[in-house]
Amino acid sequence: MITLKGKGAHGGVAIGRAVFFRRAQISVERRNIADVEGELSRFKAAREKTAQELRRLYERALSDIGQSGAQIFEIHEMMLFDEDYNHLIENTIRVENVNAEYAISVAAEHFAKIFSSMGDPYMSARAADIKDVSRRLCKVLSGSEEDTGVSGKGIILCADDLAPGETMQLDKDSILAFVTSEGSVNSHTAILARTMGIPAVVGVGERLMALSDGQLLAVDSFCGEIYSDPDGETLSRLEKKRNEQIRAEELLEKYRGLDNVTLDGTRIDIFANIQTISEVGAAIKNDAGGIGLFRSEFLYIGRDTPPDEEEQFGAYRTVLSSMGNKKVVIRTLDIGADKQVPYLDLPREENPALGMRGIRICLTNEELFRTQLRALFRASVFGRLCVMFPMITSVSEVNEILTVCHRVKKELLDEGQRVSEDIELGIMIETPAAVIISDKLAPLVDFFSIGTNDLGQYALAIDRQNRSADRFFDPHHEAILRMIRIASDNAHKNGKWIGICGELGADISLIDTFLLIGIDELSVSPSAILPLRDKIRNIDLNK
Ligand code: PEP
Ligand code: MG
Repeated sequence: MITLKGKGAHGGVAIGRAVFFRRAQISVERRNIADVEGELSRFKAAREKTAQELRRLYERALSDIGQSGAQIFEIHEMMLFDEDYNHLIENTIRVENVNAEYAISVAAEHFAKIFSSMGDPYMSARAADIKDVSRRLCKVLSGSEEDTGVSGKGIILCADDLAPGETMQLDKDSILAFVTSEGSVNSHTAILARTMGIPAVVGVGERLMALSDGQLLAVDSFCGEIYSDPDGETLSRLEKKRNEQIRAEELLEKYRGLDNVTLDGTRIDIFANIQTISEVGAAIKNDAGGIGLFRSEFLYIGRDTPPDEEEQFGAYRTVLSSMGNKKVVIRTLDIGADKQVPYLDLPREENPALGMRGIRICLTNEELFRTQLRALFRASVFGRLCVMFPMITSVSEVNEILTVCHRVKKELLDEGQRVSEDIELGIMIETPAAVIISDKLAPLVDFFSIGTNDLGQYALAIDRQNRSADRFFDPHHEAILRMIRIASDNAHKNGKWIGICGELGADISLIDTFLLIGIDELSVSPSAILPLRDKIRNIDLNK
């Protein structure tokens, strides 16, 4: 058994035979042509045919996976008619008296190089897009048909990378998982895999290409691992995981597209908690109404330096554009306590849960905070962004946060960057102090989200990490439930919405209580969404 590791772009488990994607080789030769005008017309006719192909792919993607996944083909069509791209092609034909295929390959290389040199993962992915568009054009010019070599059912599709058009042309019912040696979690293949709900591992490296067609592969894209010729123990572990996934999917079929509404007509939103971009697919697949908590600190953990503005921007944009017009609540960095990073050089604390964590770090290290806010606000134009701040205890902290937000937004607008006007700013209610002054906090923000994991530990004075005190920890403690009610009443008195994003939100036995209190949204792990919907649709609050 060989274990390969990449990045999980969409979580899932799949076991099947490897099939390698074969791309028809289109060799582009430089030929001198005598009839320049004829060559230009040949190019324009091919461009029109390519545009028609892209529109067909757009329609197909629209009906298969919806607007957010189909968008890429609109972008490709825009690239196809891009003025600079066309100018370079036509000029090369005219000035060098060469064939259209050659001129297209020159333009593709030129723009791909520009995109790649920008050092931004999102723009690097655009380099692949321009190459894909150019390849499609050349294919039309050569009149060749695509033969991908992909056939059969239950396959694990392996490739160096897959362009969006290539991904869409595949029969998705026959593919159990995508595995690519290159690519990033921001690539469109990764986004499409998430939207199609197909497990995907990207960036596995060259070792993938040493495997062969027909080899048995087990893919666990929750942790980005691929096992070739898996041993018995690995197979049975993954089969168990896969069966759990199948059971969840059966439940999904019954409840997909239904409202979270009780028999007496009370509604509640159910959103998803995610830690990484690769979990967005699970949120979509489980029919989340939005993302209620994206724990952004996971972008900062397990590395030597913090992610820069561009890296964060790419990640936030991916989540926002994957969720279309659904709300995405991104929580700013909540480092400290049990989540430590070495590069912040935080002093050792006697009691880290009561020390420098969450917003305290951001308000102390303004550069760190500013970088994250810049990335968030720039990404805001790609969806419905809600920014949430953790570990709030006072009005002055919230005022300080709002001042920084205002300053960062102005700075971006002055630079000519676009920032959405509809960003919602909210806070976590996870300290008893925030609950008690929630009447004063509510007018300052757009929403509250209750972090019951921390609220429990701070209200009951029990370390959430300390297993030996478990028996004293009662998550249903009357104090916690009363606090939820206080925060909810104060939010509603001020016309604001309130959610619960701590683990208690997924507690089926409390759902009636939350509905009666008037909680507007529950944010839970993706796999908990449908069991909750099932319960809610069978409740009658009048009884
Ligand atoms: C919480 O405290 O309930 C919460 C959602 O945040 P975290 O678990 O990340 O501290
Ligand atoms: Mg918390």
